[in-house]
Amino acid sequence: MMLGLLLARGGVDVVVLEKHGDFLRDFRGDTVHPSTLDILRQIGLLDAFLRIPHRREQTIAIRFADGTIDLGDFRGLQPFDYLALAPQWDFLDLLADAARACPNFSLRMRSEATGLLHDANGRVSGVQAHDVDGELEINADLVIACDGRGSILRDAAGLAVETFGAPMDVLWFRLPRLATDPDQTQGIPARGRLLVMLDRNDYWQCAYLIAKGSDALVRAHPLQTFRDLVAPLLPFAPARMDALQGWSEVKTLEVRIDRLQRWNVPGLLFIGDAAHAMSPIGGVGINLAIQDAVATANLLGPMLAGTAAIDDTQLARVQHRRLWPTQVIQGVQRIAQARVIAPLLDNTAAGGLLRAPALLRFASRFLAFRHLPARLFGYGIRRERVQFGARG
Ligand SMILES: Cc1cc2nc3c(=O)[nH]c(=O)nc-3n(C[C@H](O)[C@H](O)[C@H](O)COP(=O)(O)OP(=O)(O)OC[C@H]3O[C@@H](n4cnc5c(N)ncnc54)[C@H](O)[C@@H]3O)c2cc1C
Repeated sequence: MMLGLLLARGGVDVVVLEKHGDFLRDFRGDTVHPSTLDILRQIGLLDAFLRIPHRREQTIAIRFADGTIDLGDFRGLQPFDYLALAPQWDFLDLLADAARACPNFSLRMRSEATGLLHDANGRVSGVQAHDVDGELEINADLVIACDGRGSILRDAAGLAVETFGAPMDVLWFRLPRLATDPDQTQGIPARGRLLVMLDRNDYWQCAYLIAKGSDALVRAHPLQTFRDLVAPLLPFAPARMDALQGWSEVKTLEVRIDRLQRWNVPGLLFIGDAAHAMSPIGGVGINLAIQDAVATANLLGPMLAGTAAIDDTQLARVQHRRLWPTQVIQGVQRIAQARVIAPLLDNTAAGGLLRAPALLRFASRFLAFRHLPARLFGYGIRRERVQFGARG
């Protein structure tokens, strides 16, 4: 959506396909980091974004048995000393509305790309799709696949994927939030378990990590077993888990980290999770996808807005620019998975909250240490500046 907006504002004819009828899905995550806030400022949408009901988190806390530690700390960082938590459907609606103001932009909801079209030379020349009226073909000078970690266009293009694995999947559910509850997004590690609670003002969005592939096993037990596992981790009365009435209220989100070895073929480019699926660690995947979009618009926008034929050799410049930041963030996510999450979940005997490691407790006294995750995930590496399509 961000790329569609930038290209359309720059004068490129854009069609965006979205297979769903709306953006109202919970699993999209809602962290909008300073890197994205800054992009919104550059394209004149920051004020409108900040009018969306959102929370500002200045610190991300980890709650241990012996007290809470602020691991990520945005205080003192400029120009944004917080990360925003905003429902992604509102964020996407904002971008879509801004893009619709361009007469050369079209957003086709309930339109699913199902395959690729090729010209006589084998170059990708569009997509096959279906919408409510049936099958259709959409021709394009360039197809940009942003269809997420389950990308079917990846398969259609037959590109090689490097898979790094993930030790966990996530059970995603809501709990009611009371005025007396703590008001901070927090991670709560315990022996064999990890709960992350996102404060969404009137409710808690909870992510409970389970060992990869163990979903069926967990669900084979009565819901009460799950309630009993999670309840001791809550920072308030365990009875709140009774609000969960059935397994249907618990969604399973598959976690994976992978990366295409090559992000483009003639006529087709991959960005975002379709090029590099991100783990939820650091809540950074949305922000990285936005950076990809800005880089793509900067690098390819002028060519797409021109009248000359597309030079396919230019497509590789996007991967060239975005590969390194992606590798670094995925590398950090893989280390966190291997060193922290896998050992935690391997411990099959569920037990009480963990005590904070002494070194972590010591290091967290220093603001510079607490700034590290905020800088790495919040501000990112090789931050993009909008050079194409900033204004309509
Ligand atoms: C459990 C979990 C929690 C996460 N939490 C966060 C978080 O809090 N913050 C964060 O920054 N990142 C988070 N991430 C990572 C984040 O979700 C992704 O990195 C990010 O959404 C990638 O954005 P994208 O636009 O590339 O893909 P997506 O957000 O997946 O968007 C792809 C879009 O394409 C549509 N689509 C798919 N296939 C087709 C098709 N064939 N035709 C038409 N449309 C199609 C989909 O409906 C979707 O709207 C999380 C990941 C997981 C697994």
